[in-house]
Amino acid sequence: MPSGYDVIVVGAGIFGVTTALALRERGHHVALLDPGPLPHPLAASTDISKVIRMEYGADEEYMAMVEEAREGWLAWNELFGQPLYHEVGVTMLTRAPMAPGGYEYESYQMLLKRGHRPDRLDAAEITRRFPAWRPGHYVDGYFHARGGYAESGRVVAALVGHAQKQGVEVHAGQTVDGFLEEGGRVVGVHTREGQTFPGGLVVVAAGTWSWLLVPELAAVMKSVGQPVFHLKPADPALFTPPHFVVFTADVSHTGWYGFPLHPHEGVVKVANHGVGWRLHPARDERVVGESEVIKLRAFLADTFPALAEAPIVYTRCCVYCDTLDEHFWIDHHPERPGLVVAAGGSGHGFKFGPMLGGLIADVVERRPNPYTHKFCWRELAMGTAGEEAARHHRR
Ligand SMILES: Cc1cc2nc3c(=O)[nH]c(=O)nc-3n(C[C@H](O)[C@H](O)[C@H](O)COP(=O)(O)OP(=O)(O)OC[C@H]3O[C@@H](n4cnc5c(N)ncnc54)[C@H](O)[C@@H]3O)c2cc1C
Repeated sequence: MPSGYDVIVVGAGIFGVTTALALRERGHHVALLDPGPLPHPLAASTDISKVIRMEYGADEEYMAMVEEAREGWLAWNELFGQPLYHEVGVTMLTRAPMAPGGYEYESYQMLLKRGHRPDRLDAAEITRRFPAWRPGHYVDGYFHARGGYAESGRVVAALVGHAQKQGVEVHAGQTVDGFLEEGGRVVGVHTREGQTFPGGLVVVAAGTWSWLLVPELAAVMKSVGQPVFHLKPADPALFTPPHFVVFTADVSHTGWYGFPLHPHEGVVKVANHGVGWRLHPARDERVVGESEVIKLRAFLADTFPALAEAPIVYTRCCVYCDTLDEHFWIDHHPERPGLVVAAGGSGHGFKFGPMLGGLIADVVERRPNPYTHKFCWRELAMGTAGEEAARHHRR
């Protein structure tokens, strides 16, 4: 039986691996457990790309957090000696003129307030700079250079390797199925593979599987499938930066967003940040149905004529860990000492990667942090509205 750890982290997605690394860098003896292989193929963090954007409507804290994370993304590119974060910029475009209260308008105002310099775009400028968009259909918005995408699966792989070098004991092939408890305190975990790992504190960072391990979270967390499409453009140059960058297409009204041609995969990824569909993370099949393909084709025909007939190379149903208010869930369990939960990415957690580990480690060590109030253990009534400004909330 392994000797006791200071902290056991359950789950090696972006929440778990950055936490393990940060705690190790603070001198803790840390174990990181995951069924593996790593990065886990079904993990939300495992993908060819994730959007890195500062834009969160009128929510200044999230923008401040991404400003901090962006410095980290640039530093990780140095540390790992390869561009895992591609700062190609983002275009956030609207079908109608931007207006107060709207996601794009409020984000634009917040960018200006915080000293950023986005380029406002009208219909003519959109067509001149980004010719793949159907002329005249999008009439307002902006291009912001400080943003882009990260190759998320490769980021997690690099972080796991780095964590091991720093002395984190990574146990791939271990599926936690219960906690060891002594005197009402959590003192370790048991795994489906029949092993036990004693530890001073356990952090559950199991993404959309977290409420399976901590059932009292099922009232405030749900697993939601989302469609992801990978298309082969007939004219790749039209979908390559600087002519085509990370985009949101009236996203809070449509859910649609996407990426330029991927440098390694040679596909254009388009996905929807919408209501999605409920599923069980361990039991249900993860498939993108024909109805989702029909919605995609309608969007492409309307917005990107050159992509309307492009073949779909593959689809992926990726699963959000949605909290009811769409803010992360990072806190000590109020009734179970020794247990911390760090989950609830709600479809927008990956971009915070470089600053997430430090934030979660502050919670573990009960250190002050300017943002932890946003993610603390909270009462959320059924019917609580989602607050993530970019999210499309209606069917
Ligand atoms: C379709 C889609 C698109 C997204 N796009 C973006 C985007 O563009 N930008 C952005 O910022 N965010 C985006 N997100 C959100 C982001 O991916 C997530 O918030 C983030 O990756 C969650 O990380 P995590 O570590 O909590 O979970 P995961 O990455 O899912 O990791 C959880 C890990 O826990 C492990 N695990 C599960 N059960 C156990 C167990 N019993 N024992 C041990 N280990 C266990 C799993 O194997 C897995 O490796 C998107 C998410 C999805 C689904």
